[in-house]
Amino acid sequence: MRARLVAGNWKMHGGLAANQALLDAIVAGVEGVECAVCVPFPYLAQGRERLRGTPIALAAQTLSEHASGAFTGEVSGAMLAEFGCRYVLVGHSERRQLYGETDQQVAAKFAAARAAGLSPILCVGETLAERDAGRTEAVVARQLEAVLDRSGFEDAVLAYEPVWAIGTGRNASPQQAQAVHAFLRARVGTEARILYGGSVKPANAPELFAQPDVDGGLIGGASRVAQDFIAICAAAKRKG
Ligand code: PEP
Repeated sequence: MRARLVAGNWKMHGGLAANQALLDAIVAGVEGVECAVCVPFPYLAQGRERLRGTPIALAAQTLSEHASGAFTGEVSGAMLAEFGCRYVLVGHSERRQLYGETDQQVAAKFAAARAAGLSPILCVGETLAERDAGRTEAVVARQLEAVLDRSGFEDAVLAYEPVWAIGTGRNASPQQAQAVHAFLRARVGTEARILYGGSVKPANAPELFAQPDVDGGLIGGASRVAQDFIAICAAAKRKG
């Protein structure tokens, strides 16, 4: 049985005081399901300190594809590992769209994460235009194959995040999510965890997590609201 995972992506939000309150609430309120928080780089030390000795995992939102060198402003996988990160997001749609990350760069970042001993959470997903054109499977397959051409997938996590559902309040229906997850499952195998991301809220989480190939969630906006994130984590707990 695959262990469920709920990862919160804080994006570029937060500050020392707000983070501390949120971390305190998550540590106190989340139990019975694996949980990770993807914090902005400057707050990794704060996260490491607060989460030490707790079951909540620390994660980052991106990393450099390079191991070290003259890459001003970049952060390597080894640096993230040294600060206690277990996971790192790779290929989030905001990185692809706003910073021009290509499939090849995403594949290189994925390989760099694994080389540093981190578990990459690889994000794939189609835009609304691509879905409307019937290209969802072709797009997510292309994004995934670029990575698999270069790396194995052991210890990695896949996140299906339709771009049109991220931050829009419009989630994929449980049936739409399941269909894409089943398609991806055929490629990554029965052991790999596949998270759904895109406007997950306490109200829609139970039905999304009830789908057989949905192994948890990648949560943006709702991960910054302690009670919502805790409720989503509770919804991901396996029953019985
Ligand atoms: C995300 O940023 O990965 C995400 C899923 O955001 P939201 O939950 O806000 O749609």
